[in-house]
Amino acid sequence: MIYHPQTYSIPDKRMKPFIDPDEIWGYIRNTREDKKRVRDVIQASLDKKRLSLEETAVLINARDPELIEEIKEGARTLKEKVYGERIVLFAPLYVGDLCTNNCQYCGFRASNKDVKRITLNEQELIGETKALIEQGHKRLILVYGEHPKYSAEFIAETVGIVYNVTHGNGEIRRVNINAAPFDIPGFRTIKDAGIGTFQIFQETYHEPTYKRVHLGGIKRNYEWRLTALDRAQEAGIDDVGIGALFGLYDWRFEVMGLVRHVNHFEAVYNVGPHTISFPRIQNALSLDIDKAHLVKDDEFIRLVSILRLAVPYTGMILTAREPSHTRDQILRFGVSQIDGGTNLELGGYSKGKQETQDLSKGQFQINDNRSLSEIMDELINTGYIPSFCTACYRLGRTGEHFMEFSVPGFIKRYCTPNALLTLAEYLEDYASEETKQAGYKLISKKIEELGQEQKVARLKEKVDKIKSGQRDLYF
Ligand code: SAM
Ligand code: SF4
Repeated sequence: MIYHPQTYSIPDKRMKPFIDPDEIWGYIRNTREDKKRVRDVIQASLDKKRLSLEETAVLINARDPELIEEIKEGARTLKEKVYGERIVLFAPLYVGDLCTNNCQYCGFRASNKDVKRITLNEQELIGETKALIEQGHKRLILVYGEHPKYSAEFIAETVGIVYNVTHGNGEIRRVNINAAPFDIPGFRTIKDAGIGTFQIFQETYHEPTYKRVHLGGIKRNYEWRLTALDRAQEAGIDDVGIGALFGLYDWRFEVMGLVRHVNHFEAVYNVGPHTISFPRIQNALSLDIDKAHLVKDDEFIRLVSILRLAVPYTGMILTAREPSHTRDQILRFGVSQIDGGTNLELGGYSKGKQETQDLSKGQFQINDNRSLSEIMDELINTGYIPSFCTACYRLGRTGEHFMEFSVPGFIKRYCTPNALLTLAEYLEDYASEETKQAGYKLISKKIEELGQEQKVARLKEKVDKIKSGQRDLYF
């Protein structure tokens, strides 16, 4: 079917009640604070059950500081139980900032005439990719404004360019996408380029607010965006990433919206989203929003913990929008992926690390300027296992065939060993002597902790092979 984004409305009545504000508010308003219920809900989540909307509302309505602590503690426990100490690293790479939309919160919006618009050409894209490989990256997310120039074919072509770059011992092994919604054939074209996850954030699930902050362009169509990842699924992209831009509307409503979106995917496609993102609004060139709903730090920790408990198996992404101290703190409450060495300026990675950011050259302000190597040191020294693993996606362990969480022992069998192998590669190719020492100490410790005779021997063998020059080894 051909869809016209400007006039699109949801054709399939099954989806109509998918976000129902009365239902969401009904749960938020009519769920009473109840200690026993809160504890039961936390326990259900620790038993790895995805929470219902009503159960999520129970957590949202817990205000007693003791209960809030228990929710945070639950999220911490769940993270340890499900994801271990593994943190996956990636970097965003902005390909083009042309945009026909007018999103009030975004520095790239069409009405910002002071932005010098750039679309990387092939050589520039190769240069940026090399600069990222040189830092040690293996996973990128390519980012685009919404513009006729950034067609599905254009995106597919840029994905191909990135995959073809090799530099030293390195290459990019997984390319994810954050771009505008497409129709089904468009998503199919992009899927065929071999992408990992396609991310589209709804920004706000509250339609009147959505209309208020999206003043022009295709993005103004709420339903076109809300159903975007359904079309991606129809096109065969089974790794999709959802998100809400926190600060546009009441955070409680957005958390419920995200959980409802997850339920919808599970009901229709038998698989939840691969990742959830929860960016908080940051400063941007001519930022023009109502500040009434900006989310404070303590609320942010609460909402991340609630999301962790509500959707136990989904990856959660925390980006360099947040300052390093907030990131370090929130990592413990269930985050599984972070970016490192981030630079939002188009063509910025080839220029090297910049201490100050020019707002007219990026989409928004970032607040964690640490290089990837600084982040690696921090993670290693605090006992996390930094991971550049891309094994599942390359072995076809995606979508409903694979939910790392639902397969008992999966993390121990695959994720931790693969994280250690990609860490060994990083240590060999990109780390200082000091990091190398600390990193190998961590690898030895974590191998001992695995405690499965056979796997340990095979893992040690693979680490030795990496030391002697082999690359890209995984289980
Ligand atoms: N143009 C594509 C789109 O709108 O879907 C790509 C999105 S944009 C490059 C990635 C995300 O950044 C947006 O979906 C939005 O949630 C977020 N973003 C935009 N402005 C922001 C701001 N001022 N602070 C924090 N995040 C912002
Ligand atoms: Fe364009 Fe995306 Fe920015 Fe909106 S958020 S103005 S669509 S780049």
